[in-house]
Amino acid sequence: MTIHMLFHLRFRQPQPSIELSEEAKFRRVVNGSFAASARHLFADIKVSLAEQLQLKRLEELAKDYMSNSDLENALMSLNSRCSGISRVYSIGKSVQGVPLWVMEISDKPGKEEAEPAFKYIGNVHGDEPVGRELLILLANWLCDNYMKDPLSQNSLSRLALQATLIVDNVHLHILPSMNPDGFSLRRRGNANNIDLNRDFPDQFFHMNDDPGAHQPETKAIMRWLDEIRFTASASLHGGALVANYPWDGTENKKKYYYGCPDDETFKYMATIYSRSHHNMSLSEEFPGGITNGAYWYPIYGGMQDWNYLHAGCFELTLEISDDKWPNASELPTLFEYNKMSMLNLVASLVKTGIHGRIFSSDEGKPLPASIAIKGLNSTIHARETLADYHRLLVPDRKYEVIATMPGYKPRSTSIMLGEEAMTVDFVMDPVITPINSFLRRGWSCSLPGEAFSLVVFLSVMAVKTNGVVDGILPEELMKLLMSLATKWGDVLDLKNLKVHHLSGAMTNEVYRISWPTKNENVPRRVLVRMYGEGVDRFFNRDEEIRTFECLSKKGQGPKLLGQFANGRVEEFIHARTLSAEDLRDSEISSLIAAKLREFHNLDMPGSRNVLLWDRLRKWLNEAKGLCSPEHLKEFSLGNLDEEISLLEKELPTESQNIAFCHNDMQYGNIMIDDKTKAVTIIDYEYGGYNPIAYDFANHFCEMTANYHTDTPHIMHFNTYPDFEERQRFVRAYLSSSGNQPSDEEVKKLVDESEKYTLANHLFWGLWGVISAYVNNIEFDYMEYARGRFKQYWLRKPELLGASDDLLHVDDSAEPVHILRSKDLC
Ligand SMILES: [Zn+2]
Repeated sequence: MTIHMLFHLRFRQPQPSIELSEEAKFRRVVNGSFAASARHLFADIKVSLAEQLQLKRLEELAKDYMSNSDLENALMSLNSRCSGISRVYSIGKSVQGVPLWVMEISDKPGKEEAEPAFKYIGNVHGDEPVGRELLILLANWLCDNYMKDPLSQNSLSRLALQATLIVDNVHLHILPSMNPDGFSLRRRGNANNIDLNRDFPDQFFHMNDDPGAHQPETKAIMRWLDEIRFTASASLHGGALVANYPWDGTENKKKYYYGCPDDETFKYMATIYSRSHHNMSLSEEFPGGITNGAYWYPIYGGMQDWNYLHAGCFELTLEISDDKWPNASELPTLFEYNKMSMLNLVASLVKTGIHGRIFSSDEGKPLPASIAIKGLNSTIHARETLADYHRLLVPDRKYEVIATMPGYKPRSTSIMLGEEAMTVDFVMDPVITPINSFLRRGWSCSLPGEAFSLVVFLSVMAVKTNGVVDGILPEELMKLLMSLATKWGDVLDLKNLKVHHLSGAMTNEVYRISWPTKNENVPRRVLVRMYGEGVDRFFNRDEEIRTFECLSKKGQGPKLLGQFANGRVEEFIHARTLSAEDLRDSEISSLIAAKLREFHNLDMPGSRNVLLWDRLRKWLNEAKGLCSPEHLKEFSLGNLDEEISLLEKELPTESQNIAFCHNDMQYGNIMIDDKTKAVTIIDYEYGGYNPIAYDFANHFCEMTANYHTDTPHIMHFNTYPDFEERQRFVRAYLSSSGNQPSDEEVKKLVDESEKYTLANHLFWGLWGVISAYVNNIEFDYMEYARGRFKQYWLRKPELLGASDDLLHVDDSAEPVHILRSKDLC
């Protein structure tokens, strides 16, 4: 298996075909386009008769639900009944001015304690009101059962203990309704008809980047997270029965399992909920009653991922009833079904994981250090004031816990975490070096806004250099950023640097760093990529860097702005990834063609030998080694050597332009800036020298794929571009230099490309066969391979068979020279 393939698998992955609930299907339709347009989809829809009927039905049902003022009254009276352990506060107002009331439940509400904080949020979607009712019931139940002597209780004794445990050891914040306007309008969105669970900043796409443009309800949540350090949380939804965990989106918009760095911990959390639930874990649709969000259906701008990324808060999205708006008489039953789950999830913050405080050895002061676990690419932060931290982790495992703080020597300790929670405190020694005393003076203050603050970012970097804070790396990057800022005429105020963690990808850590410019509305943005450890298994880092660097110098892809010991600073590209439809849009297609020509014209280092044939043979050997006898036979792998040799002989090469080809021009690897129409080709893992006709062939075949469907593995060859469309593409390609090609020239290249589709079918067919054996991702690789091989055998006679002149191959033709260029870049 080649390193390139492994890498590719990550990005090509493909969606499993799973049955979606009606709710999910609905959401897919509504949010299928997750660009900004999704926000406005509702606005223009005329209210149909069916919707009117639905509205009427909800009006009926709503009579027995609490109105917004009922809810307010319920909270207030509960607060006076349980004043010792509760307080009510508002985090802001809805569009229509309804306060977003929160009840905090704790033995010391409103006071700072070295305890974890948890939040429950209900009614994010206006037409999913079960959560708001259950949360009021939960608050009441806690109030009633706190300090109840368990011995005097019957079977509820254990749960009553849970109430006392939670109140005494957790600060539980309950926001029953995040969307009171949507509730009174009986609809999903808020008063502006915006889906609040698509309104948060997104790690992959930039539709919600403008801080001023968020809905008031969203802004309230964002402020809230900056004020309170929540360890974990959950939002309550309806329409399905499952505990959903990050990530909710993927960077290529495709649907597949995409775990965040704390995937194991999230699965553990989600399982706590589903297993404690009356019947969630028995789900037939979702094994164990849990699901990865992106695997179910990707969404963008969701609250869950943002909590984890921005605030290190482990948030679940809980779908707690199949019926979004059940009859109110069912609410007591639904509460019984969810009660133990809701309690156990909160209690898990105390009963499991590691907890501790961090102090300096010299003055004994609390240090708001960062806590990382070796091997997990995520960091949490101790609280500013008390320097306490709380981290959920899967029990019964060994961990190495690392505390870092700028200006202090990092400390690490190995622990064996059992079923019970564990206390791990740290005492840290200061180091006195110029850079670190600078850091201690200038950086230990809290940076507002971004959870992945610069302090933490630098600490993470320090941890990555084998646990040694030597100050060199941060200094190196800082100098780089400073010089970039100076070059651009910005005044870089260190306190205004914002660091946003963009991706939990396993290969790299990617951060968006921004700072204000003179033009207040336009912050400067760069992308910082920290090379991950152990990626050599996937691809040759040196080669990747060389290709990237070279392409960047040649104005392709993101610009390389600077490099440091274990990472680089890249241009931040404002563009969207194309969709399947975009490839068929004649205007966009012409832009792609022109860009591809530019790409092919690049003088890239490395071997100029056509790599196609060697790679096909190598993959064939791998496939043969992996395949069962049945598959060997089914795919005629024994005969494919001959087919490859035949193609190598029959496909035109000497007349062909050999160029640095992308070799994977699928829509997910192409970006476009809709404003400037600038096209960017990304992800060059498969790049290498090939006949340009091969790149065309690959691109034409990709036009029949749509990786955003329930059957992503099926390529629809009946939609293969016709001669006209292929000609248009090739003409746009050839004429992009300014010279109009002759009809003959265009036709020749189109015809030759057509023959190369045969090689392309073998290429991806073999890729599919190998992947089916080595990859666990639920994409039907084997069926995909079948489709490609079938096309090969189907088209071969027509493309190679009949023509007589194919038999007269001129063997005396000069072989393609092997060139190895030096220092081209
Ligand atoms: Zn919902």
